[in-house]
Amino acid sequence: MTIRIGVIGTGAIGREHIERITRTISGAEIGVVTDIDTALAEKAASEAGGARIAADGAELTGADDVDAVMVTSWGPTHAEHVLGAIAAGKPVFCEKPLATTAEDCLRIMAAEQAHGRRLVQVGFMRRYDAGYRELKRIIDDGGIGHPLMMHCAHRNRAVPEAYTTDMAVLDSGVHEIDAARWLLSDEIVSTQVVLPRSTSRRHPHLKDPQFFLFETAGGVRIDLEVFVNCHYGYDIQCETVGETGLIRLPDPARVQLRGSARIGTAIDQEWDDRFSAAFDTEIQAWVDSVTAGTATGPSAWDGYAATAVASATVEAQRTGAVVRVEMVEKPSFYA
Ligand code: NAP
Repeated sequence: MTIRIGVIGTGAIGREHIERITRTISGAEIGVVTDIDTALAEKAASEAGGARIAADGAELTGADDVDAVMVTSWGPTHAEHVLGAIAAGKPVFCEKPLATTAEDCLRIMAAEQAHGRRLVQVGFMRRYDAGYRELKRIIDDGGIGHPLMMHCAHRNRAVPEAYTTDMAVLDSGVHEIDAARWLLSDEIVSTQVVLPRSTSRRHPHLKDPQFFLFETAGGVRIDLEVFVNCHYGYDIQCETVGETGLIRLPDPARVQLRGSARIGTAIDQEWDDRFSAAFDTEIQAWVDSVTAGTATGPSAWDGYAATAVASATVEAQRTGAVVRVEMVEKPSFYA
């Protein structure tokens, strides 16, 4: 059985996923695409080997020739398209964020629960990275005893002028927010932002770097450095300290070069190089779950929790205060 996927949003990551599904993933094909930029949609449709172009997201989600929906449009449009897919009873993969407000995430959760079974997977691809998976396995097996602290860093070489201070949490740090919740099987209950001196290599409106301090319900402390003009590459670090040991995310395997009186290895420059294997695994797992009829992977609850923590952190950026994360009780549907 080949799943016919409809893609809403054919920008950067939409086109990457289309190429992935067309060339790498088994069990699925791109049937229909749409984008408010019709030239982009036409390019993506031809790259996908002649997919049909729908007028908009509503037409695509309701179409008979779409079995499952992929939402890769601009974040503020995600809720509308995910709700459309649920109304049509179709599985939907939504790139992060699930929605830009906690209220919209709650509407999605309510619609999914009313439907009666899980349809939504959120695009937190770190959960499919081999290194993160090994961290999770060791923590779950008790390999470092009870986790006490987590130290994370999220560094990009440079960002465009359009990147704003709140994007350090909404677009970048949200990956660590989800990864920490997942690794620790715990919810983040408070958040704080500390601003060191800014780099001279930023655009003037941007605060960069930033430190985020999170606290979980179980008392684990997480510090996260987001530094999006670090100049040297794309560098993701995660170290968890427990009562009996410490584990650290491995750097990607790269050949060691000895020469000019030095030993060195290359550092990835972009996020899609660092996580390309994780994206492949993530999308294959989603297609397999659609084929099996059982949703797996990050759920609408995970999307809600990440948005709730990220929104509280934006408030902490603005006020300088320690902000409590307000969340509803987890429905048993998402247990
Ligand atoms: P992008 O290049 O701006 O692409 C978004 C595309 O969606 C654009 O072509 C945009 O058109 C289109 N669009 C906007 N509203 C639409 C609508 N109502 N219907 C159909 N198309 C619409 O952005 P991107 O970098 O691909 O990011 C897309 C999403 O993926 C974001 O939510 C982002 O956070 C997420 N993402 C996730 C990762 C990850 O690591 N998991 C990495 C990158 C991006 P216009 O440009 O004309 O508005």
